[in-house]
Amino acid sequence: MFDSLSRQIKDAKKIVFVTGAGISQESGIPTFRGKDGLWRKYDSMQLATIDAFYEDPKLVWEWYEERRTNILAAKPNAGHFAISELAKFKEVIVLTQNIDGLHQRSGSRHVLELHGSIIRIKCTVCDFKDNITTSFDSLPPKCKCGNILRPDVVWFGEGLPQDVWDEAISHAQTCDVMIIAGTSLVVSPANTLPLYAKQNGAVLIEVNPEKTVMSSEMDLSVRETSANALPKLVELVSTG
Ligand code: NAD
Repeated sequence: MFDSLSRQIKDAKKIVFVTGAGISQESGIPTFRGKDGLWRKYDSMQLATIDAFYEDPKLVWEWYEERRTNILAAKPNAGHFAISELAKFKEVIVLTQNIDGLHQRSGSRHVLELHGSIIRIKCTVCDFKDNITTSFDSLPPKCKCGNILRPDVVWFGEGLPQDVWDEAISHAQTCDVMIIAGTSLVVSPANTLPLYAKQNGAVLIEVNPEKTVMSSEMDLSVRETSANALPKLVELVSTG
């Protein structure tokens, strides 16, 4: 599956993963695009915006509470575990668009959450921010200061945390191999990370059962699910 690039992969010192919703699909967490992207009659992408939140905070919170319950009950899959296993052999950094925390729960230690975390909740006005794993009694939940709480995620139209983004670019620019798994690469600016890697001469490998908008830029496209393909990468690297 990775044979055509086995030498480059084995010789790589630093491997950076760029991951998206698809890597958690086999953990039972729906992606945004495709038929899974519809929640009741709403389009997920229309709900993940600051405008939708202020227009109907209860509705958006109901959607998040359902997702939070699902995510907290989910378990990392073989794709997540393969990435954490690979770190025994290489320097591995995970740049994830996911907000589900499954990379960390599978044991990966160097994870940058580009789009925040659904577990972390923050106040829309004061400095309050905390990890909350229980469900809320009434929606939208309120902060002690009296204002509405929100998930600490980056919604469409919002900027990424600058320090996280700067660090992500720096890792993309210094890797030997970048593996792009489970992302449609349509969300900006995360979709520019492969370009930073390519400018530095890194090998680009995509793991996705479907073609993406950047497939033609890849050195290799593995048309498999991540839980199927990524353990084979560990096999390759661990056999020297
Ligand atoms: P996306 O929904 O746009 O695309 C998912 C991609 O994963 C598709 O290209 C699809 O072909 C691929 N895919 C589906 N199943 C796969 C599998 N088993 N293995 C490998 N690939 C598979 O997701 P995106 O590119 O991450 O962008 C959407 C945005 O949605 C992101 O900003 C992300 O924060 C957010 N999101 C996150 C989660 C999560 O945290 N799990 C879930 C849904 C959406």
